[in-house]
Amino acid sequence: MAGLLIKNAEVWQRGSADLRVAGGRIAEIGSLSPLAGEAVIDADGGALLPGLHDHHIHLAATAVRRQSIVCGPPEVRSIEQLAERLQAAPGSGWLRGILYHESVGGLPDARALDAICGERPLRIQHRSGRMWLFNSAGLDEVLRHAAAPPGLETDGGRPTGRLFDEDTWLRSALGGSPPDFGEVSRELAAFGVTGMTDMSPANDRGTAAHFAAQQASGNLLQHVLLAGTLALGSGSAKLHLHENALPVFDEVVAFIRAAHGQGRPLASHCTTETELVFTLAALAEAGPLRGDRIEHAGIARDAHIAQMADLGLAVVGQPHFIAERGDQYLTDVEPELVPFLYRQASFLKAGIPLAAGSDAPFGSTDPWAAMRAAMSRRTAGGAMIAEEEALSAEEALSLYLADPNDLTRQRQIEVGASADFCLLNRPWLAARQVMDSSLVRATIIGGDLVHQAPGERFAGI
Ligand SMILES: [Zn+2]
Repeated sequence: MAGLLIKNAEVWQRGSADLRVAGGRIAEIGSLSPLAGEAVIDADGGALLPGLHDHHIHLAATAVRRQSIVCGPPEVRSIEQLAERLQAAPGSGWLRGILYHESVGGLPDARALDAICGERPLRIQHRSGRMWLFNSAGLDEVLRHAAAPPGLETDGGRPTGRLFDEDTWLRSALGGSPPDFGEVSRELAAFGVTGMTDMSPANDRGTAAHFAAQQASGNLLQHVLLAGTLALGSGSAKLHLHENALPVFDEVVAFIRAAHGQGRPLASHCTTETELVFTLAALAEAGPLRGDRIEHAGIARDAHIAQMADLGLAVVGQPHFIAERGDQYLTDVEPELVPFLYRQASFLKAGIPLAAGSDAPFGSTDPWAAMRAAMSRRTAGGAMIAEEEALSAEEALSLYLADPNDLTRQRQIEVGASADFCLLNRPWLAARQVMDSSLVRATIIGGDLVHQAPGERFAGI
């Protein structure tokens, strides 16, 4: 790969300098002149940041969500609108609808769906997540690979097209062709994201192979770390707790010991206080390993924070949930617990490494929106949640600059490091007043320019 020279950058935590990239790494920082054949980007004094890392995402689910058609309110309110959407969908093969609600047109059977969409196999998920509606082509397609399960409704022996609570069956009947990551990857690149940690609990070696193939084909631009099952063999071992159905304590302790035995830290999903208390007890019993982390830490009291610091845990939070879900929290969460929601400053004060991730598709993929929320602590409706947890712009940015392999460390722009950058269109002191994705002028991953802002055209690239 040809070399790249970035001129006149305000290099993060170094100041004004030029920077040379060779072989995907930072080769030189200083006052530099272009070599023959070298591409040049004039940063024009803009801040050159280490590329942002999304520390908690579910990429496959996000890609599937992007490729799905919303089939319910407020976007779709009638069968005519539904027909219009389905017929306008680009591509070929399966159509996948989501968020259907019977207010659109009852619970149509396969024939009714054939009337509005008969050509391509179609499945539409009800908003509850517990029902799918198929057209005839869709039924033929799934029943070609698997026998009808008990949850497939019949009418005189013939399936109606309505399927209840059979997602495991459906996955295997569909043969699990994993999604294309291109669209989400480009979207993340436009935000300056150059790496991500995929936290899906079911990640295994098959998932790892799909990620590698997507990277090799150029569809997936970012560096990726996978967390997942014990069978995955590397990365954090993901423990997905649900407080309504907590696993047997001793089994969780055994899971942690098995993960640690593989040299892998634990990543435990803790959105509620119960889940956090359960995890802390299990970790105390199994003994902690450097790199163990709490995902979300949705509710953390001072006593939990002290215990987390003692155990040497890191936290990966979702600052944007305060903006996106805060108004709902203020309705649903006991008022006594509101000050403990998605805390930030208190973790930093206790010396706990704090990073952030989108949790997409459950949260927005835009790290800049999350940084703004981390700084303002404001809900979409304008209410304030635990303002004392607010971070400075630099602290908010640091949530995305942590080294994904060691959250105690901030990545730096230094000779030898991978050439992963987020170039802003102005110096940091001006950018910190804005904190918006419109600041991102270019994104570079491993020395390759993977994103330029609209209208941008760097000479020689
Ligand atoms: Zn998650």
